[in-house]
Amino acid sequence: MARYVFITGGVVSSLGKGIASAALGALLQARGYSVRLKKLDPYLNVDPGTMSPTQHGEVFVTDDGAETDLDIGHYERFTGRSAVQADNITTGRIYKNIIDKERRGDYLGATVQVIPHVTNEIKDFVLDGNEDYDFVLCEIGGTVGDIEAMPFIEAIRQLGNDLPRGNAVYVHLSLMPFIAAAGELKTKPTQHSVKELQALGIAPDILLVRADRPIPPEERRKLSLFCNVRSTAVIQALDVGSIYDVPSAYHREGLDTEVLAAFGIDPAPAPRMGAWEEVSARIHNPEGEVTIAVVGKYTGLKDAYKSLIEALNHGGIANRVKVNLEWIESEVFEEEDPAPYLEKVHGILVPGGFGERGAEGKIRAAQFARERKVPYFGICFGMQMAVVEAARNLVGLEKASSSEFGPAKEPVVGLMTEWLKGNQLEKRAVNGDLGGTMRLGAYPHPLKAGSLISEIYGSTEVSERHRHRYEVNIDYKERLEDAGLVFSGMSPDGLLPETVEYPDHPWFIGVQYHPELKSRPLDPHPLFASFVGAALEQSRLV
Ligand code: GLN
Repeated sequence: MARYVFITGGVVSSLGKGIASAALGALLQARGYSVRLKKLDPYLNVDPGTMSPTQHGEVFVTDDGAETDLDIGHYERFTGRSAVQADNITTGRIYKNIIDKERRGDYLGATVQVIPHVTNEIKDFVLDGNEDYDFVLCEIGGTVGDIEAMPFIEAIRQLGNDLPRGNAVYVHLSLMPFIAAAGELKTKPTQHSVKELQALGIAPDILLVRADRPIPPEERRKLSLFCNVRSTAVIQALDVGSIYDVPSAYHREGLDTEVLAAFGIDPAPAPRMGAWEEVSARIHNPEGEVTIAVVGKYTGLKDAYKSLIEALNHGGIANRVKVNLEWIESEVFEEEDPAPYLEKVHGILVPGGFGERGAEGKIRAAQFARERKVPYFGICFGMQMAVVEAARNLVGLEKASSSEFGPAKEPVVGLMTEWLKGNQLEKRAVNGDLGGTMRLGAYPHPLKAGSLISEIYGSTEVSERHRHRYEVNIDYKERLEDAGLVFSGMSPDGLLPETVEYPDHPWFIGVQYHPELKSRPLDPHPLFASFVGAALEQSRLV
């Protein structure tokens, strides 16, 4: 039977609860255990799919097509386990399930209430499908004390009693702020946060305390005493240089030992930390560096491109180089010549995106990359814009555009209303709901033998995750191919272009999917490893 670790956060948000949870998952794996992570999100959206990436960060997509919180991406990157829809739930989804049941009459006349109906729904989510795992780590979004998280806190409190004795451990992540005037790290916010948690019936077993400098022994004793945790269970979580240092750092502080001890597993199986140490070593001792321009739209909020940034870092790890990112708002190129911006970079990446604003700038970035033979990686929207560029400037279709921007005379990129998923026909109405209605999740597709992309993958059969509504229109395929753009990957039915490339260019690849979602520090995605490799070649030329 699985053991459960519940992870809550206190004092302030943005303490890195997702990364802490993911790192603990990695540490348990390093001891030979199988681990699953789940995230409980208190907001009312059914999923984050309709939320703006500038507000909520990127929407992470799983193989089974769920649009999830970006923490799920951290879980995948740290544990290597591919997440599923059932790893992320929101208050919105919980209530939606309950209201659907109520309307069907499933509650047989009962008054439907937060306790027990909402809490039962949450508990079912937490407990479901864990048969194959030694540990299930459940992260509660938000900060203890938030009104909207109350039912989740109550549900995990109840689980402490529902589960067999010793099968649930509570980890609380908090912050010790340094007060310059006093020259001290302060324990009080953590004391208050734990008090709040205790008032809700949860006594944390372990305190993971973020601080910007080492916590003196006296302060640790104080936390232990006032927060009612063992002195060894006050774990300091100091700032580190890279998120991939976190597993080793928390391990050195004894987090995994303490969690296992809290379950009564003592002595614990020895950990194998070699792979994480190697990743840290490569990050901190690069043998060179490259600069990649990311020409996008949400460049003000890096969380909107979380997986992309990480995948580029993984490409750097694979090549033992540091990857510097230059963020460029694509709209700039609508007024200005891209050359002065792009001449000095070693690779250009146009990431996924939505809407017309900034699109022309992305098209100009693709043109620059094609003409100047600078490595170009077009992801989803970045592929679509590269194809529009080819249609305009190589085929001569001046009016080439995407119907995403309104009715197009030459819809080189058009709306998909029907496509095959396996053997099933998926349909979308032009005016249908926006939530959860894109081509979502993993679709396998063949790659042309002999193409650059198939060489990079080392395979002609791949499966990658999608999240888009529009597709490159195959009515233009022949003309584009005649002009030199190779359609190196097509959906199995031959209707949907998946990848394009220019054979006479050192590295110009567009993919309709999001390879960044499957890249991991211990297993960098081949396309990112290869793109950074190509940028490294380019850096030797410029
Ligand atoms: N906006 C484009 C579409 O919906 C691309 C989406 C994306 O880049 N994820 O097809």
